[in-house]
Amino acid sequence: LFVEQPLGQGQGIALSQAQAHYLNTVLRKQTGTQVALFNSRDGEWLAEITEIGRRGALALCLGQSAPQRMPPDLWLVFAPIKKARTDFIVEKAAELGAARILPVQTEFTNSERIRQDRLQAHAIEAAEQCGGTFVPEVAELQPLSRLLAHWPEGRALIWADEDLANTAQTPSLPPAPVAILIGPEGGFSPTERARLRAMSGVQSISLGPRILRADTAAVAALTLWQAQKGD
Ligand code: SAM
Repeated sequence: LFVEQPLGQGQGIALSQAQAHYLNTVLRKQTGTQVALFNSRDGEWLAEITEIGRRGALALCLGQSAPQRMPPDLWLVFAPIKKARTDFIVEKAAELGAARILPVQTEFTNSERIRQDRLQAHAIEAAEQCGGTFVPEVAELQPLSRLLAHWPEGRALIWADEDLANTAQTPSLPPAPVAILIGPEGGFSPTERARLRAMSGVQSISLGPRILRADTAAVAALTLWQAQKGD
C-alpha cells in the first residue's frame, strides 16, 4: 500500500479509511497480520496491523522487505482524451515505469479538464497492483505551449508523430532524461508541428505503419522505450 509518511524501523503508520476498508473487507486482514507499505522513497516495508476499524487503521513497521527502486527519468506528456481512455493511459504509464505523467492541452485536445486527484489515485492503484515501490506524479493540466516554452535543458523530447506513420524504420531512442509526447485524437496542429520542429533535442518518431489511437500510441511508445533500454 502507498503511504505518504516516512517508513522506518518501529515507525507507526496511519492508514486511510479507504485503505482500512480494502484491508478489512476485501483482503480480510485483521490486527496482527502484515501488509507491505511503500512511499516512493524508503523502499518496501513489512508492517503489522495494530488497529483496524471503519475510520482507518494503524500499522507498525517491522522491517524493510525490498530496496527502493526508482524508475528511469522518463516523462509521459499526453493530451487527455475521453475519461476512461485517459484513466487507461495513466494506469499503463505507471505500470510501464514512467516517472512523471504530464497531461497537456494542445490545440486539438478533446478534453478541457481533468480530475488530477482521480488520475493520481489511478497511478497509485497501478503501482500497488504491480508490486512497485514508486508512484509517478500526475501533474496538473497545462498548455503544451507553456510546457515547451519552459522545457528543461538536457531533457530529450521523443515526439510520436503520426505524419511519420508510413516510415518503416524502428527509431533508436535517446538516453534519459527524456519525455515521450503523444498527441490527441486530432493530432498536432501546424503551429505545434512548427514549434516542435524548431526546438532542439526533439526526436520525431514513427510508431509503425498504422495510425494508432492516442491510448494505444502511449502504450506502444512506452513499450518501445522499455524494449530498447530495458528499464
Ligand atoms: N488525427 C490524426 C491523423 O489522422 O493523422 C491521428 C492522431 S493519433 C489518433 C493520436 C496520437 O497518437 C498522435 O498525435 C501521435 O502522437 C500518436 N500516434 C498514433 N499513431 C502513430 C504512429 N503510427 N506513429 C507515430 N505516432 C503515432
